Amino acid sequence: MTLNRRAFIGTGAAAAAMLSAPMLGAQGKPRVVVVGGGAGGATAARYIAKDSDGAIDVTLVEPTRAYYTCFFSNLYIGGFRELSSIGHSYGTLASEYGVNVVHDWAVGIDREAKTVTLAGGAVLPYDRLILSPGIDFVEESVPGWSVAAQNKMPHAYKAGSQTELLKAQIEAMPEGGLYAMVAPPNPYRCPPGPYERISMVAHLLKQINPTAKILIADPKDKFSKQALFEEGWQKHYGGMVERIGPDFGGGNVSVNPDEMTLDIDGSVENVNVCNVIPAQKAGRICDMAGITEGNWAPVVPATMQSRMDENIHVLGDATSQGDMPKSGYSANSQAKVAAMAVRGALTDSKVFPAKFSNTCWSLIDADDGVKVGASYEATEEKIAKVDGFISQTGEDAALRKATYEESVGWYAGITEDMFG
Ligand SMILES: Cc1cc2nc3c(=O)[nH]c(=O)nc-3n(C[C@H](O)[C@H](O)[C@H](O)COP(=O)(O)OP(=O)(O)OC[C@H]3O[C@@H](n4cnc5c(N)ncnc54)[C@H](O)[C@@H]3O)c2cc1C
Repeated sequence: MTLNRRAFIGTGAAAAAMLSAPMLGAQGKPRVVVVGGGAGGATAARYIAKDSDGAIDVTLVEPTRAYYTCFFSNLYIGGFRELSSIGHSYGTLASEYGVNVVHDWAVGIDREAKTVTLAGGAVLPYDRLILSPGIDFVEESVPGWSVAAQNKMPHAYKAGSQTELLKAQIEAMPEGGLYAMVAPPNPYRCPPGPYERISMVAHLLKQINPTAKILIADPKDKFSKQALFEEGWQKHYGGMVERIGPDFGGGNVSVNPDEMTLDIDGSVENVNVCNVIPAQKAGRICDMAGITEGNWAPVVPATMQSRMDENIHVLGDATSQGDMPKSGYSANSQAKVAAMAVRGALTDSKVFPAKFSNTCWSLIDADDGVKVGASYEATEEKIAKVDGFISQTGEDAALRKATYEESVGWYAGITEDMFG
């Protein structure tokens, strides 16, 4: 029968039952749609499909066929990795775990109807929706810069062609030229990321252009692993790196991409490369779904459900959740908590208390790796830090080499955990 609005209202109890019961997919299974096939989304899709043994129909929506991890993208800039080594595809998620991978953009979410509309026109119904779209940039946060200027002044904060472009620009710098970075305000993806990048740019320039200079305009008073980075820059790249913090106008910055100039507090510099990392916000599909508060999507820590819609879980960088940094490791950890909660809700499987962990490794120079990390638990209010650790200044070379090797093992393990 065709269900028009009057007939639908008239069905009373039957209509109520339809609204509360999971919408069954083609094979009578509950449906999960995951938007974003990065660190959080790929992990969630894999764990739900794997652990439900085919009892849940999982569709992953991701526009790109190859996902390049931002993690280790700085090592590509430094010459420690090939770009191909940080690219991952979705074949194993489809063939081994039965995830239905759809390469398209999600462009609309109807929370009443519980559907996701794709750019190609398809409409996907869901019982639970998982959003892990990563970040977008806050417009006008760096006056003079917009996404339209990203080929002149790359951000390289979404990995792939932007990272290749930035490296090519650094390699093409004239002898003794200037690389500038406009660092982002808090909170942003990967707190040590800009400073690991500075280390890797310095490593590359030291080989190919040793008289070149690096300038950082930074709106923050302090930054992640600051003592470790500053010690490393002094030790390996003495005199090459200058950072201008907020006291000297590091937060009062504008750029002119056509002129290739950077204005710091009224003082204009000609720059050869300008790596602008703007202020960030949740990937825009979160705004379109109406689940953001300010720039980010608040979540319930125990399940990663949106505080605005219990049928939507949000993961990774897009969330506001408490103490965890925005990292790939955090997104992966949160995805496993969400996957367990979704399975529990849709198939009555057992749900254990949420536990989270994170480590952020950074490479300062060859075999000079450092790390910061912590474990976390879910409280009512936030994901709360339980205990943490951090590398120390003055550590010996053997320990730093071991830390770097640990990070290489972590990369291999976590990307397998995400993409299979
Ligand atoms: C330079 C740098 C270094 C870093 N180093 C580390 C590190 O060493 N360790 C670490 O743990 N983390 C690191 N990170 C951080 C890490 O990359 C992110 O925190 C992590 O990728 C976040 O995962 P996510 O799932 O939230 O987003 P992402 O991994 O960015 O995935 C989002 C995906 O969603 C897709 N998407 C967006 N919108 C839509 C839509 N509307 N429809 C469909 N798909 C959509 C995108 O195409 C993308 O593939 C680093 C980041 C940078 C920039």
